[in-house]
Amino acid sequence: MEKIDKEKREKAIDLLRSKSDSKLITHLNSCVRCGLCAGSCMYYITMKEAKYIPAKKIDLVSSIYRRYCTLAGKTVPALVNAKDLDESMAEEMIDSLYGSCTMCGRCVKHCSIGVDIPYIVKKGREMLATMDMVPKTLQATVDAAINTGNNMGIPTVEFVDTIKWMEEELIDEMQDDKARIPLDEIDKDIFYTLNPREPKFFPLSISAMAKVLYAAEASWTLSSKYYDVTNYGFFNANMAEATQIAKNLYDEIHKLRGKRLILGECGHGSRANRWDGPNYLKKAYDFDTITAVELIGGYIRDGKIKLDKSLNKELYTIHDPCNLVRNGGMLEELRFVVKSSVANFIEMNPFGNDNFCCGGGGGALAMSEYNDRRLKIGEIKADQIRKTGAKVVITPCHNCVDQLLQLNHTYKLGVQIKTISEVVADALIIIKTN
Ligand code: SF4
Ligand code: SF4
Repeated sequence: MEKIDKEKREKAIDLLRSKSDSKLITHLNSCVRCGLCAGSCMYYITMKEAKYIPAKKIDLVSSIYRRYCTLAGKTVPALVNAKDLDESMAEEMIDSLYGSCTMCGRCVKHCSIGVDIPYIVKKGREMLATMDMVPKTLQATVDAAINTGNNMGIPTVEFVDTIKWMEEELIDEMQDDKARIPLDEIDKDIFYTLNPREPKFFPLSISAMAKVLYAAEASWTLSSKYYDVTNYGFFNANMAEATQIAKNLYDEIHKLRGKRLILGECGHGSRANRWDGPNYLKKAYDFDTITAVELIGGYIRDGKIKLDKSLNKELYTIHDPCNLVRNGGMLEELRFVVKSSVANFIEMNPFGNDNFCCGGGGGALAMSEYNDRRLKIGEIKADQIRKTGAKVVITPCHNCVDQLLQLNHTYKLGVQIKTISEVVADALIIIKTN
């Protein structure tokens, strides 16, 4: 590892000296080392090494805090387990905070005193980002978003081609020349966003949502440049980059004068845009922001779309994306939409707020150096799915879809993985009004 630049190291330590972040100071000092969090973390459950215990991960950050921000740590560091922020510590932090935590938040629910472990993990990531120590694979994803407008670096011309192709399919399927997937239209009610995995690998999920919006007679548009709902700045924890990505989307909504931002099927993107976006930008949004799950739920309740559950006859289960359910409050709404769309449903055990992460969160899918670890921790999710006996797993997050597809292959589950819009589109009854 390269030597740490002294100036950058000071800036990283300054993040712990903050006088305005009382939450950080409280949580850094709260762990009572009871060990209860160990059994909640997929990494520890599957690999049984002490370094994967959540409390051990956050203690890396706490030990630096003690070393530089407490009198005892400054004078007798060994007595209080205070540690220098040197190269070997930085290496351990990278492996632990980027490579061994999906920031799923399950441990928080199991912590005896509610220590916000992902919050501290993220602060540790922010320290590493300040020292330019983000894993290159993850950084490349952020760079692509900043340089091209989407995290997969899809050229605009390629994106537009895909959308036009999907629009032709929609026209054929609906037998209606007026069926549209609008691009760059102004003054629409809905500014819709996508995970770039959709145009790149799963264009049918775009046409599924377009079908739902068609059935609801929605006024909507996509942007051809800034349609990406993700914000991997949330994961590399470089605040300037997270802010830039959020600003690009914010400016585009204003440019097209969209009234409502609808967050496409992406857990962390929904969280980063809905809850963190206004904090990054230091201003409240002047447009409504809801997820695709809530949009569809509203359409069902208001009778804007009609569904026939009998069109989805297989046994379905839900994988709850951590950032939409445990950390996003979407548990009930997701079940309302699913139970309105399928005839047979079974929950995983555990599910909802206690559900296990798929294993691909926290930026893990972007960091190929941790692929083996990611698939190993995913064994828990694979077992959960197998035990339900379900034939289809629904998840409203393309990041989770990607990980679940890999688990399906690795653990030979033999299931289908579908997004919420795909399941709803399969159950749609299209009523032509003219
Ligand atoms: S946030 Fe999730 S992955 Fe990270 S330590 Fe807690 S349980 Fe483990
Ligand atoms: S459960 Fe909470 S208090 Fe106990 S060791 Fe884990 S983080 Fe610390």
